[in-house]
Amino acid sequence: MAGLKSLKDIDIYNRPTLCKKCGGVMVFKGVGEYKCEECGELDYDDYGKVRAFIERHQGATAAEVEANTGVSQKTIRHMLKESRLEIAHGSAAYLKCEICGTNIRSGRFCPKCELEYHRRREEEQRKLHKNFDKGFGMAEKGAEGEKRFKHDRF
Ligand SMILES: [Zn+2]
Ligand SMILES: [Zn+2]
Repeated sequence: MAGLKSLKDIDIYNRPTLCKKCGGVMVFKGVGEYKCEECGELDYDDYGKVRAFIERHQGATAAEVEANTGVSQKTIRHMLKESRLEIAHGSAAYLKCEICGTNIRSGRFCPKCELEYHRRREEEQRKLHKNFDKGFGMAEKGAEGEKRFKHDRF
């Protein structure tokens, strides 16, 4: 958890801070777009560049995006994992589900595995709670008791 948070704090998107034209201060306008306070020049961070390129070239591959924006495929994948970017329908797949390998458009898992992943995590949480209550061993003793009961009957 701590690792995830620190990753987000690192500026990996090369945000523009100063205007290339006049050296004025670039102000964040939204979705990766920045505008110069002085001359109104527009500039983009890596996210804005990738987003703008994909908007104009639906179905572009990660390699094409890298070649045209100069943003590394590693950064593009990172954006996808952060779910900041979604791959257009019908485009070449960038990501695979970490569990079953199905092609996905964003995040880490396909919808099916996402459900399964959360279900399993809930189960793990429940098991954890069970271990806290351990010492009674209800489940095992109950099963033995049932066996004994059957033996007594026959
Ligand atoms: Zn400027
Ligand atoms: Zn999956």
